[in-house]
Amino acid sequence: MSEILTTPAIVLRSIPYSDTSKIATLLTRDAGKISILAKGAKSQNSRYGLLIQPLNELEVVVYLKSGRDLQNLTQASLLAKREQLLTDYDRMMGGFRILDWMLKIQVPHNDSSAHYNLISRVLTTLDSAPTFHPGLFGKFFVRLSQLNGYEPNTFECGNCGKPFRDFDRSLPVGYSASVGQIFCESCQRNQKSDYAVETPVIDMISHWLYPNQQAQPASQLSQSQYLTLEQMMENHLRYHLDL
Ligand SMILES: [Zn+2]
Repeated sequence: MSEILTTPAIVLRSIPYSDTSKIATLLTRDAGKISILAKGAKSQNSRYGLLIQPLNELEVVVYLKSGRDLQNLTQASLLAKREQLLTDYDRMMGGFRILDWMLKIQVPHNDSSAHYNLISRVLTTLDSAPTFHPGLFGKFFVRLSQLNGYEPNTFECGNCGKPFRDFDRSLPVGYSASVGQIFCESCQRNQKSDYAVETPVIDMISHWLYPNQQAQPASQLSQSQYLTLEQMMENHLRYHLDL
């Protein structure tokens, strides 16, 4: 079976193939991640060859044939122009960090629009924000874990079930990245928690997971709290991917 697929797509990786072509991995909005062969993409005359570069968001036309690992790209045009992302070192490195996670993580073939929209939004923020928000990556990891169905449980102690709202807010909360569970003050000594964090960090994760049910914490987190949150969530993803 074969079909012509026209879809927005973000280039996650591209490598030269033979003297004239490129092979690339795309995150498409409509068909998950696919590998494509762009014939003639390295030639000077190629209309779209230069577009087949990581971080670019394109509209692509792909000749899809089932049972084939590598699909043929027939057309590409630029969807979003993000100049700062491609020229500013820190923004570009941030972008590559996002792409790297997308290469590792599973994306459903038939329902990839949520993943696609998340990445597209983060790349736009990386390109256009005057400065990086210290919670940018932490929030990305929280949303990614949720999209893949292994969001942390921030509502009750993973051992005794005590609701988080009854925790003593003056004491640190235990958190285990491997299981994505919080532990109350009595249980964290006996459980394998690898972090001890202040309660607002847990409030922030809950807010990012369920913005409609969980109000934003009253005060902003500190830089170091945001950093801890980011590490907690990135490690949580690593455990799930066996990295
Ligand atoms: Zn407990």
